[in-house]
Amino acid sequence: MTTTIDQQADVYSRPNARFGGDGTLEIRASAVGNCRRALWYEATGHQVTNPRNDDSLTMLEAGNALEPVVLRAMARAGWDITPTDRDNPRMVSLRLGARLAVSGHVDAAGVAPIFGNEPGIVEVKTRGPEAFKKWRTLGAECSHPESVWQAACYTYGAFDEARDVVIATLDTGNRVWDYEVIPAYRVERAFEQACARLGELASHHLVNGPDPYALPERDFTADDWQCRRCPFLNACLPGSAAVEPGDEPAVDAELVSDEEAQAALLEYEQAQEMLKAIEEDKQWALGRLQSWLRQRGEDKARLEGGRKTRTVGMVKTTRYNVDHKRLNALLDPETRATIVTENLSRYLRVS
Ligand code: SF4
Repeated sequence: MTTTIDQQADVYSRPNARFGGDGTLEIRASAVGNCRRALWYEATGHQVTNPRNDDSLTMLEAGNALEPVVLRAMARAGWDITPTDRDNPRMVSLRLGARLAVSGHVDAAGVAPIFGNEPGIVEVKTRGPEAFKKWRTLGAECSHPESVWQAACYTYGAFDEARDVVIATLDTGNRVWDYEVIPAYRVERAFEQACARLGELASHHLVNGPDPYALPERDFTADDWQCRRCPFLNACLPGSAAVEPGDEPAVDAELVSDEEAQAALLEYEQAQEMLKAIEEDKQWALGRLQSWLRQRGEDKARLEGGRKTRTVGMVKTTRYNVDHKRLNALLDPETRATIVTENLSRYLRVS
């Protein structure tokens, strides 16, 4: 394994995969977790069949533009941050074997008390509120392992050894940020996982050379979000045009016209108004009852209601807060996955 540090201005717009002049397959560090077939399509020059739309490009650019905001917030919070010069970014290139290399630009190096005196890699991510919550609860190794693989590659590329890395994340909806430290021994493991992933692609390259029609196996299926957002979806899975879950027409559902949907929305709005008024009445009544109890110097009392005698009483509840950051630092991803589990529910929101 050798490392080189290079300056390259087009680093932010490089392809995710390409063949270098000497035939080396170069993978962008941020794409280490991408589908290997998609990387092969890109490296071998297949035509993009499903380009990003304008909204998706705007989201991507907004995420990139917000990265320095997070770094400045970290500096204000006392971190010793050395951000990459975005006009002249430092490229870290890491050679993995004879025919494959990983390269990318480091967001920043950072020193905090948790690092001691040693600078470590800071990888900045921007996420929507749901993804932010998922990351905070499960930790990056479970929620977004590719971000840890990426930071691990940078760490080995920059320091030639495993060090603690920091994943700093901005919630783009609520404009709050937080960070997670991945200890060095788990960074080492993440690096091994990234190498194993890419090793299969390197073997494919060794066996087939840059043959555009010798495609690696698919890493995902048409239901996965990776396929739905894949620029080569129509080439890889013809006929599975990106259908968001929930967009499929329900087979046996009664057809609803636009006018009926409009009428249902009006009904919903009226019901919401009524519920709001009822909730306000309820809160007023509860406030009066609480004052009455307090006047009597009691925590509980019986009162005759409209249909039955009721008990009016103060209830104490205890809430338990889990410090997910400390939990994630202490537990490896496998142990954590047995403790923090995920439940997916679907509901319709009208906003
Ligand atoms: S459509 Fe899915 S399986 Fe095919 S290349 Fe893209 S991500 Fe991979």
